[in-house]
Amino acid sequence: MNLQYLKGVGPARAEILNKMGLYTVDDLINYFPRDYEDRGVYKKICELQDGETVTFNAFVASNITENRIRRNMSIYKAVVKDETGSAIVTWFNQAYIKKQIRVGVEYSFYGKVKNTLGRIEMQSPVFEEVNTGKNTGKIIPKYPLIYGITQNVFRGIIENAMAAVEGTYLDSLPSWVLEKEKLADINWCLRNIHFPMTLYDFEKARYRIAYEELLTMALGLLRFKEKGKTEYRGIKFTIDEKMQDFVDSLPYNLTNAQYRVWQEIDKDMKDDKSMNRLVQGDVGSGKTVVATMAMYKAVKNGYQATLMAPTAILAKQHYEGIKKMLEPFHIKVELLTGDVTKKNKGLILEALKNGEIDILIGTHALLEENVEFANVGLVITDEQHRFGVRQRGILSSKGQKPDTLVMTATPIPRTLAIILYGDLDISIIDELPPGRQKIDTYAVRRNMEMRVNEFIRKEMQSGRQAYIVCPLVEESENMDGVKSVTEQLEYYQEVFHEFHVEMLHGKMRPKEKDEIMLRFKNGEIDALISTTVIEVGVDVPNATIMVVENAERFGLAQLHQLRGRVGRGKYKSYCILKYDSKSDVVRQRMEIMQKSNDGFVISEKDLELRGPGDFFGTMQHGLPEFRVANLFTDMAILKKAQAVAGMILERDPELMMEENHGLSKKIDKLFEEKISI
Ligand code: ADP
Ligand code: MG
Repeated sequence: MNLQYLKGVGPARAEILNKMGLYTVDDLINYFPRDYEDRGVYKKICELQDGETVTFNAFVASNITENRIRRNMSIYKAVVKDETGSAIVTWFNQAYIKKQIRVGVEYSFYGKVKNTLGRIEMQSPVFEEVNTGKNTGKIIPKYPLIYGITQNVFRGIIENAMAAVEGTYLDSLPSWVLEKEKLADINWCLRNIHFPMTLYDFEKARYRIAYEELLTMALGLLRFKEKGKTEYRGIKFTIDEKMQDFVDSLPYNLTNAQYRVWQEIDKDMKDDKSMNRLVQGDVGSGKTVVATMAMYKAVKNGYQATLMAPTAILAKQHYEGIKKMLEPFHIKVELLTGDVTKKNKGLILEALKNGEIDILIGTHALLEENVEFANVGLVITDEQHRFGVRQRGILSSKGQKPDTLVMTATPIPRTLAIILYGDLDISIIDELPPGRQKIDTYAVRRNMEMRVNEFIRKEMQSGRQAYIVCPLVEESENMDGVKSVTEQLEYYQEVFHEFHVEMLHGKMRPKEKDEIMLRFKNGEIDALISTTVIEVGVDVPNATIMVVENAERFGLAQLHQLRGRVGRGKYKSYCILKYDSKSDVVRQRMEIMQKSNDGFVISEKDLELRGPGDFFGTMQHGLPEFRVANLFTDMAILKKAQAVAGMILERDPELMMEENHGLSKKIDKLFEEKISI
């Protein structure tokens, strides 16, 4: 059903719901509250304590009085009574209250109590006639919303959606699992995740939904692992006498860490076991060279190799760098992205199939069906957290059990990495090449704004470029004081009117994004206002300033990644973290950023300060976000789910049984991650 025909929606609201990504009744049912307000606690007037938020029932005992305190500020006041005492309720500037509240009628009032020496007052309470039970007297869900729709309206829409489909959901968990784990029925859970009567009911509903999410993940990962096992026998890359030639051709010496990681890769490649390895290394640690060594080896052993990057610019950057390193060895490197003309694409695909191309570098265009290799023996994905597990799989399936390498700059503490990348071996490049300059980092409050702007101006005057990163794309009514790209673009275009200021964000079309990035790279744009889309490793050596607006809203690992965008050339570089919070934790986190330049130290500290739940929330990883489950606080559930996942696969390794259809579909959905920058 089109949402617009759901009771309480209509065309205008349907449009807003669409903007929130909600298109069907099912989408609505699966749009969960972010929080709840317990309005179910009732008190008598004589029991009301200063500062508490509660509901009380009372009769209106007086007419509403209006008090004009300023030209455009009026206070509306009424005296209300129950059998234990009286209280005053007040509203500001809400003239319509006069019509809504009638003397002698009993209402429920919900709000924060002010008790000043026995004078009890409640300002701007939520109210309704007693026993209406719509907005008071129960647990009220709070949804993440956007401008144009209120909590009350949205709640009503969810009620109507619920009424339309309640009881029709089929359980995707096999009944033996429900029984064994004492999980509540799905229809009951959906009602109670939205409208629980008690907190206990909510917990029970949340538990089941979290369980289902974690079971789906555990099953999915386990299946990938099992599949990997059956393909255990892979390629043996035995020829390696030419390796030294390549290493000698580099204009620098490998760092110890690069060398160690190379040896780990080399060992895997020689072995007939399929390599399945994750290479983690801070930005600039030199992952590309190591990957190139692996590709060189594969080619010298008579195989093709391929490398997939998340964006066209990154792919091109890799292509140029790798081509330069490998061409002296008569290795043919090609690039395939969405921009390649039809004719050229045809030629590339033909040459790839014939084996004339040794190495193909590209974007997700590589995943297309008509991309066929002669014999690809090594598959590499860069910046893995941008791709889903499934996409990695598609690329690998283009070869006969090729070795795979996954490269990421996200510094994940090892304990977490094991959960996330359970199907991969892990190598860490934990050392930067010598001579890297430290990026000076300053954390500043709003009062430094003018000085910061002057500093940016000076850099731009001497020909350098700046990144300015904001948390949001557009202004949001929900998040006061949080900077958005569109709003900051206007601001900075005015402040730096003599410079060329442009914006970049994920909602732009891929072509537009690439174009802006290219122009920035070519120095045609002086300052780039952007979301975190620029965090993926594009090299602009002339960019020396990274400004982050509302830095308090980013994970430290992410700030560190952003900082890695500058200091890539010969110029001294700076990172300026603007924050707007008085919290101690925020201050400490900013201090860590000022003191440390080591991604692993930073992510460990962040974990310490914020706790794992939060850490995962902002961290990008190869897995989709869960709606309710939390990998840390729900670790106990995860363990149970893992055990059950094993049992399910034992009964039904291919998930072909009727009882597992629901789960099988959920796995597909969970691992079918969008590619987006
Ligand atoms: P990342 O790990 O972020 O992908 P890159 O592989 O892009 O890092 O390397 C960053 C830069 O460091 C490149 O310009 C590369 O040529 C250079 N580099 C890599 N290894 C070394 C090394 N051992 N010594 C000096 N420079 C190196
Ligand atoms: Mg890189």
